[in-house]
Amino acid sequence: MTSIALLGGGLAGKLAALYLARSIPDARITLVDPERDGLPVVGESTVEVTVQFFKALGLGTYLEEEHLHKYGLTYYFRLPPGAAGAPTPDYVQHEAPGVIRLPSYNLNRHTFDRELEARIAPQVTRIAGKVQSVDLDSGPAPQVHIQRNDGTAEVLAADHVIDCSGRARLLARQLDLHKAPPCQRNSYWFRLKGFDRAILEGMALAKLRQHCFGSYYVTHHFYGDGYWIWIIPMRAPEGGDMVSMGITYRGDVSGEQAMGLDRFCAILDRDHPALARLVRSGEMVDQSRYFNYMYEASSYYCRKGRWFLLGDSGFTFDPANSAGIAYLGHQIPQIASMILKARAGALTPCYVEALEGHLTAQLALQDQWSHWYHIMDDPVRMAWTLLLANMGYFHLVVPNYMSGRFLNAGVARQVAGLLRRHCPKTQPPVEPFPRIMVHLAETSDTEEIVARIPALYERTIPFSYYRPDNIARGRLIARYFKKRAMLRMVALGMLSPLRRPALWPLALVETGAALGDLAKAATIGLVPWIYERAERTGAADASAFQPPQAFLFPQGDHERGSPAAAPICPVSGTPQTGQPSLPDRQMAGAQS
Ligand SMILES: Cc1cc2nc3c(=O)[nH]c(=O)nc-3n(C[C@H](O)[C@H](O)[C@H](O)COP(=O)(O)OP(=O)(O)OC[C@H]3O[C@@H](n4cnc5c(N)ncnc54)[C@H](O)[C@@H]3O)c2cc1C
Repeated sequence: MTSIALLGGGLAGKLAALYLARSIPDARITLVDPERDGLPVVGESTVEVTVQFFKALGLGTYLEEEHLHKYGLTYYFRLPPGAAGAPTPDYVQHEAPGVIRLPSYNLNRHTFDRELEARIAPQVTRIAGKVQSVDLDSGPAPQVHIQRNDGTAEVLAADHVIDCSGRARLLARQLDLHKAPPCQRNSYWFRLKGFDRAILEGMALAKLRQHCFGSYYVTHHFYGDGYWIWIIPMRAPEGGDMVSMGITYRGDVSGEQAMGLDRFCAILDRDHPALARLVRSGEMVDQSRYFNYMYEASSYYCRKGRWFLLGDSGFTFDPANSAGIAYLGHQIPQIASMILKARAGALTPCYVEALEGHLTAQLALQDQWSHWYHIMDDPVRMAWTLLLANMGYFHLVVPNYMSGRFLNAGVARQVAGLLRRHCPKTQPPVEPFPRIMVHLAETSDTEEIVARIPALYERTIPFSYYRPDNIARGRLIARYFKKRAMLRMVALGMLSPLRRPALWPLALVETGAALGDLAKAATIGLVPWIYERAERTGAADASAFQPPQAFLFPQGDHERGSPAAAPICPVSGTPQTGQPSLPDRQMAGAQS
C-alpha cells in the first residue's frame, strides 16, 4: 500500500488530500497541521481551470449552491480627466461580453475551507501537530518528525512526502532550495461588509452593455502606477454583501512601502475616489498584509518521487490572474501521476524533470506579469496586454488542461519551450505589438483612449468550448495565431497609417508580422500534427491517467454524495468506472 504524508493542511494540503484519495483509493494518506486559527486567508477568485479541478473533487453542486458565480475578470482602465465641465467616464471597463460555458466562482474561503475539512475527514488520517523535520535518507522511506499539539513526539514513515506548509517552506528550507525571485511584491487586503454596493454599480464607465449577467458578479480589477486593486464579491455566511478587497504593488515601481488601511485609502482618494467611498461606507471584517512575499525554489520535485513541493511551499504566485489555485489544480494531478508511476516502478527522472519544466514555465509567465507593473497606469498598453494574455490562457492553458495533455512529458516540455525565462534586464517587452503601442499610447485625449481600447473579447475568446473531448489543441493554437494577426491589424489600423507616410515603414513591418502569424495559423490549421506531435506516446512520457482527460474524474450526481464515489484506478487493478487503466505491460515497458 502506498503511504503519503501531507505536511500542512491549508488549501494545498486539503485539495491534495481529496484528490489523492480519489485517484489512489488504496493509499494511506496522513495530513499533519498544527490547526492554528488566525492565519491570513487568501485565494478567493477562481478561474475555469480551477473549477474543473474542483468539480473533479465532487464540489460542483456545492459550489453552485453555496458560492457566487463569477462571470470572468473585469478590468477598469482609468482615464485622464476630460476637458473642464465635459462629462467624461472615469474608466473604460472591459468585462466578458457574455457567459462563457465553463463556470467559475468567487469563494468565501471560510465556508469553503470548512466544507473541504468535512469532506476529507472520513478519508484521511489527521495529526494535529507541527512537522519539525523530514529525514529523507536514513531509511527505505522518508521519516516525518512531528511534535503533536499535546507535546508528544511522533515519527511518521511515508513513501511520499508532499510539502504543503506554505510560507513555512519546510522542505525548501531543510534542503536549501531557496531561490530569490527576480521581482518582489507586497499585498494588503481585507474583507468588507455592509458597504454601499450602489457606489460600485454607479461609476461612470465607458463600456459595452451586455444582458447576460450582473456586472457586480465578477472579479473587479483596478489599476494605477505600479499597483492593481481587486474586489471579489462573495457570499457572506449570515447573508448580505461581502467583498474581499486588496492591493498588490511593486514597492520599487510605486514607491509604496508596507501599507495599512490609511495609506490604502489615501491612494484610493487620489486615484479611485469611488472606491474610497465604497470602503468608507462599509465595515471591515479582518485585514492582512504581506511584504516582499515572493520566493522561488531551485527544485520542486524529487527525481525519485520521494518529496514534492506543492503550492506556496515552493513558490508564490502574483494573484493578478487568479492563478494560484488554478496551478494547484495542475500540480496536484502532476504529483498523483508521478506517485502512480512510482508505485508501478515506472517513474523516470525525465518525466519528473519535464513536469518541473511545466512549473518553471509559470515562473516565466510571472516574470512577464512583473513587468506589467510598469504599464499598469497606461490604459492603452494594459488593455491590449490583458486582451492577448487572456487569449493565450483560453487557447493554450485551458485546452492543455482539460484534455489532460499537461501531464504528458512531451507537452510539458513544449510549454516550457514556449515560455522561457529571461533575466529581468533582457526581458522582451510584455505588451503585444510594442512598436504599434508606442504610437497608440501616446495620446492623453480621453475620447481617443476610449476609441483605442475597444472591447474585443467576443472576437478573441472561444466562448463555445465546454467538453474535454472537443478540444483540438492544434486547431485552437492555429486560431490563436489567426486572431493575433487580426488584433495586430486592428491596432495598426487605429493609427491610420495609410494617411501618415511617416508610419509606412512601421505598417510594412507589422503587416509582415501579421502575415507571418497567418502563415502559422494556416499551416497548423491544415496540419495540426505540427503542434500536437509534441505529445509523446511512449509509456515513460505518458500521463499515468489514461485516457489523459481521465485525470478529471467522471462527474455527475455522485458529486453531492460520498467522497469516495467514482474513483478511478489508473495504474493497476480493475478500473472502477469503465475508464481503462494504463496497462501494466505498458508500465513494465517503461521500466525496462
Ligand atoms: C494576496 C494574495 C491573494 C491571492 N488571491 C488568489 C486568488 O484570488 N485566486 C487564486 O487562485 N489564488 C490566489 N492567491 C494564491 C493562493 O492564495 C495560494 O496559492 C494558496 O493559498 C496557497 O495555499 P497553501 O496551502 O500552499 O498555503 P497556506 O494556505 O499558507 O497553508 C499552509 C499550511 O501549512 C501549515 N504549516 C505551516 N508550517 C507547518 C509545519 N511545520 N507543520 C505542519 N503544518 C504546517 C499551516 O498551518 C497552513 O495550514 C493569492 C495569494 C495572495 C498572496
